[in-house]
Amino acid sequence: MGMVIACTNKGCFKSTEALLDVSTDEVICRECGKSIIQVTSFAKVALKTLGQTMKARKKAKQLELDCLNCNRKVAPKLKNNLIVCSDCGKEMKNVPASFRYVVEMMGRNDS
Ligand SMILES: [Zn+2]
Ligand SMILES: [Zn+2]
Repeated sequence: MGMVIACTNKGCFKSTEALLDVSTDEVICRECGKSIIQVTSFAKVALKTLGQTMKARKKAKQLELDCLNCNRKVAPKLKNNLIVCSDCGKEMKNVPASFRYVVEMMGRNDS
């Protein structure tokens, strides 16, 4: 769930998880595709921080997850059919099912 911004364009007026176009510093509505005006600079910074940007969407997501054992952002790996932290080696129990699927696919490619 990202940050929701109300679109100000006529005929839209929807609340959308808008994207920041970092090259033009415009906030783009995902419903109508037009730029939303009157977005505060604070909101823009927040979008950037969240990675809710046009560029970020195009990039492949990096596989990183918070390890609850060592409190670090780490790349999880597959070991004995468990998702484990690549840093401390302990099982990561907070892995969403979709994430687990991706890790399993990558593990398969490695071997
Ligand atoms: Zn819109
Ligand atoms: Zn760890």
